[in-house]
Order: sequence, then C-alpha cells, then structure tokens
Amino acid sequence: MSHRFAFILLLHCIVNDAVSQRKPLPVIDMHLHALQLKKSMTAPIKIGAPFRDLGLHDPKDNYSDEFDAALLTSKWADHYLVSPTTNDSLRLLTFAALDKHNVYGVTSGDIETVRQWKKEAGSRIIPAIYWDFNSAKKEKLTIDSLEKLFTSGEFKVFGEVTIQYEGYSASDSAFDSYLALAERLDIPVGIHIGCGSPGAPYKGSPGYRARLHSPLVLEEALLRHPKLRIYAMHAGWPMLDDMLATLYTHPQLYVDIAAICFMIPQKEFYFYLERLVNAGFGKRIMFGSDNMIWPGAIDAGIKAINKAAFLTQDQKRDILFNNAARFLRLSEETIRKMH
Ligand SMILES: [Zn+2]
Repeated sequence: MSHRFAFILLLHCIVNDAVSQRKPLPVIDMHLHALQLKKSMTAPIKIGAPFRDLGLHDPKDNYSDEFDAALLTSKWADHYLVSPTTNDSLRLLTFAALDKHNVYGVTSGDIETVRQWKKEAGSRIIPAIYWDFNSAKKEKLTIDSLEKLFTSGEFKVFGEVTIQYEGYSASDSAFDSYLALAERLDIPVGIHIGCGSPGAPYKGSPGYRARLHSPLVLEEALLRHPKLRIYAMHAGWPMLDDMLATLYTHPQLYVDIAAICFMIPQKEFYFYLERLVNAGFGKRIMFGSDNMIWPGAIDAGIKAINKAAFLTQDQKRDILFNNAARFLRLSEETIRKMH
C-alpha cells in the first residue's frame, strides 16, 4: 500500500466516522403523547401503517369488538406497527425513535407521565397539556391550575385538546374561557380537528360527530381570539375544502399532519397534503406523529414526508422543522442547540 493511498484511506475513515456521528437535521413533532398502557393493552396491538381499508361492519355485531379484534390481527392492513406491551418499553422505544431522528416532541398525556418523560428525556420533550372536559375533571385542570402550569414555564403548549370526542367544538361557549387564558398567556393551542378512531360514537365516545371534523367549527373561536396561536391537529382530514377555506380566511392558523401521515392510505395522505401545499399553505403545515402506543409512527411519519415526490427539499424542511420553530417562537439559541 502506498503512503498516498494509506493517507486517502485514513481520511476516508475519518470523514465517514464524522458523517455517521453527525446528528440528522432536527425535526419537531407537534403531536406526541406520553401514555400509560391500559390493562387491555398487554397483548400487542397493531395499527395500519397505513390501513388498507377501514373495515366492514354488519350492524348485528358489536363494532367495538370488531375493531379491537381487527387491531389484534392486522386484518385491515398489509403493513402495520406493533405496540410494545410494557410502559417501560413504550417509553424507551419512543425515546430511541426521538434520538434516532433528532426529534423534539410537543408531548401530552397525564401531567405526571409527561413530567416523568421530561425528567428522563430532557430537551427532547416539550411538555404539553392534554385536555378535554373529562380529563380536566379527573386531573383538576381548572383555569387557575392551568394558569399556574403555564406561567411557571413548565408546560409550553395547551394540547392536545380533544373536546371533539365529547361533542364540543372549539367555538363552544363552554370552552371559551380556556381559549381566553391561552390567548392572554400567549400559549399555543393544539386542537384535535379531524379524524379520531373510526366509528368513535359506537365505541366509547357517544358525543363524537363527523361534522366536528370540519375546521369551519374553529371560525368563531379564531375571530373571538385573534391573538391566539392555534393549530388544527390532523389538518382537519378529510374535510379538505373546509380546511383550505379556513386556512385562507384565517392566516394565523397552522395545521399538523399527525396520524394521517402514517395511518390513512398513503395515496390519500399525499393527495391531501399536496392540495394543501399547492393551495399555498406550505409554510403553515407542521409535522406530527400522533405516536400514542406505537413508537414506529415517528419513523413512518418522517419517512412519508421525506419520500413525498411532490415536495421540494425546502418544503420538506419547512414541514419537518421550520414551520413549527416559527409557530412555537423558538429562539435562535434553542434552534441552534437542536442542530
Ligand atoms: Zn388527535
């Protein structure tokens, strides 16, 4: 081996080593959950990634049972993610996915679980408040206690707000004082507008209505609270025209693409995302995984964006990071540390 060749080889190894150790470009996941597995989840549960179809239902049968059975057998999907079966593995696999893709996640769940995750994963976790009327009662998340959690600086985002499951829209007067609080404290709000679990009213959410998928239900809330930073989680899927009209009319509104990025048939996700981008809203779309009990959702969601042939490199970076960094008003210093 000549000296020259040995030197080039050495250089090659050094460069390769540096490349393999370099962190990937950062990603902000606007929609991550820190959950505890329920007792019924000790058998692995499969979620379509994506679903091929969303099932048939004969009304003589119980839809809830059919749905649960389908998730145990992966009947509705050719590709699927499998849930871990212990809380430790759920948490650690999620942290591993965050590290692998250099992800910072706006993370909601019950307060103590979010605190535990934050303690263990540090800056990877951006603590957020999961909220609906029911969980507010359980966790005593009143206006006063929320104000303390936000002004202490511990919790940064108010969301996921899932009152759609309870039959409420964001513009309902019962929710207004919470929006007023978020506006006054300048706390970003993430509200579930769009797809929940299929057949939700037939399995535990009797107040759930299809019409509440429409982002049009946000309008009065947006007009009453014009300084509010707010994003429609799940981008109002599948109400495409309503979403476009709402984004067009309310320029402060952002969306995330949580769950739809990995769960719905990919052709449909790409069709929906491409329309949002083509219509001129590429600067207001943010990545979200909606990882609940499937840490693989983070990887699947990021891959779906990176593989989207209709997006430029800049548009992908906007969705994966830049739009959320702007929306969250991250400082240059914070952004620098994330790289
Ligand atoms: Zn949601």
